[in-house]
Amino acid sequence: MRILLMGPPGAGKGTQAVVVAEILSIAHISTGDIFRANVAGATPLGLEAKRFMDSGEYVPDSVTNAMVRDRLSHPDATDGFLLDGYPRTLAQVHELEGMLRSTGTSIDKVVEITIDTDEVITRLVKRAEEQGRSDDTEDVIRRRQEVYAEQTAPLISEYEALGILVRVDGMGSVAEVTARVLSALGV
Ligand code: AMP
Repeated sequence: MRILLMGPPGAGKGTQAVVVAEILSIAHISTGDIFRANVAGATPLGLEAKRFMDSGEYVPDSVTNAMVRDRLSHPDATDGFLLDGYPRTLAQVHELEGMLRSTGTSIDKVVEITIDTDEVITRLVKRAEEQGRSDDTEDVIRRRQEVYAEQTAPLISEYEALGILVRVDGMGSVAEVTARVLSALGV
């Protein structure tokens, strides 16, 4: 299966992505994780991405698209993947379409995890305390929500029009949300 996982920052995408990819035995590809690993390793990609991440902005499409193109070419992604946090812009939607078309494949399902905004802020503030992520300060959290609403939320209707979108309520325990995601995927 080729799945996209979408939803606002703090909806629990990352947590669900790990569990669901494991259950379905497909590669979990998180652009945020790849960027953070590069920041931690002080690679040129990490140095480039950090200033955008720290201010809650998106890393430029050219950088992000090249990274995903490379990652999808790895053998573990040939038979299926769960993309977590990509695409997030219209240019990324088109780029991904092109990448898949060139291999004769397509996205099977897009899962949107929905959540109430107050709950998101509470979760992100808690995560900031637990993990010390540099993009989890209150101002940056707010900016990341705005960027999502402006640039990513509108993309969801594209997938809805294609008839491959499923919406899942992100409120509740991790296990409850996982069960909803699997049921929405029909597995
Ligand atoms: P995440 O962990 O998915 O919330 O991503 C953390 C940060 O990485 C985002 O706030 C962006 O700065 C950057 N990032 C992750 N995925 C993308 C993407 N698809 N396009 C642009 N920037 C991204």
